[in-house]
Amino acid sequence: MSQEVIHDIQLITAPFANTWEHVQGPGGNTSVKEQDMMLIKASGFTFKDVGNSTGLVWTDNHQVIKNLSTSCDDGSLECPLARVIKSIPEGLRPSMEFEFHAALGKYVLHTHSVYVNVITCCIECPSLLNTIFSDISYVLVPYIMPGHPLASYIYRTVSSGEKAQLYFLKNHGIIVHAETAEEVLYIYDLVQQRIIDFLKLSIVIESDSEITGLERKELFFEKISNGIDQMEIEDVNDRILVPDQSIFFRNKVSATDSSANVYFDLENKKILIKGSPKFIEAAESMLKMIYYILSNQRYLGLKSEFISKKELDVLHGLSSEKYRASIL
Ligand SMILES: [Zn+2]
Repeated sequence: MSQEVIHDIQLITAPFANTWEHVQGPGGNTSVKEQDMMLIKASGFTFKDVGNSTGLVWTDNHQVIKNLSTSCDDGSLECPLARVIKSIPEGLRPSMEFEFHAALGKYVLHTHSVYVNVITCCIECPSLLNTIFSDISYVLVPYIMPGHPLASYIYRTVSSGEKAQLYFLKNHGIIVHAETAEEVLYIYDLVQQRIIDFLKLSIVIESDSEITGLERKELFFEKISNGIDQMEIEDVNDRILVPDQSIFFRNKVSATDSSANVYFDLENKKILIKGSPKFIEAAESMLKMIYYILSNQRYLGLKSEFISKKELDVLHGLSSEKYRASIL
């Protein structure tokens, strides 16, 4: 439980803190292993928190692997929570994605990069990845519910001898793992840059990436700009690109109820967000994520692929409370 491990996890986390194009709200997670233990971002905390040396949990990695190896064929959506050895501050739980971290290398970086998700959320995903990464081995994981089901899939690929350091998760994001922090960052940056270059995507700069009409209400009163013409309420409520979008926004977005947390004021062409500062920050970054992915796909002529109604029912079923707690 050395200070060195905390420094190591910060190396692969801090570069993405405050970058909504890589992580939105408390989404995404990082981990570092030391012997039989794993230091991982805590559930509900952000990359920025980890950069500030908080929101960290040490788990018994040996036990997590044992659970995965004995319970991955029973179709279970839940898995016993890892034994927490210590956390900062006390009483935290590991990220809900701790299990797939356990199955991978010493350093693991998982984000919901908008650049990657322009591709993972479209029909053309397999052929695009095949073209862009023809010289790199990677695994394309079909859409699988986050948590234990996704971890079981990844555990099986690793157990069957898969050596790829790069995983693309359909309608979800990216995982990079390696034995050093430098290698993780090198592979991660290379992937982002190749996608940006190949699709000629704009690199997000805060000033030119705003959704017009997005306004923070009550706590900030900071008007961003006018006009709502580029984003529809259906983009948020019905066109579900990634699981966090559905969990986070469900029953919170309305164009008729002005008391909703996210109110599409169609008459005045504004989107008003209200709630705690943490909620507002997360909601804003998620709206930008949706807008970035959909607008680029439309511009590039890519066919968006959304999470099916059936999958959403599963997502909102058994594990929903645990999941909600992790991102809200
Ligand atoms: Zn994720």
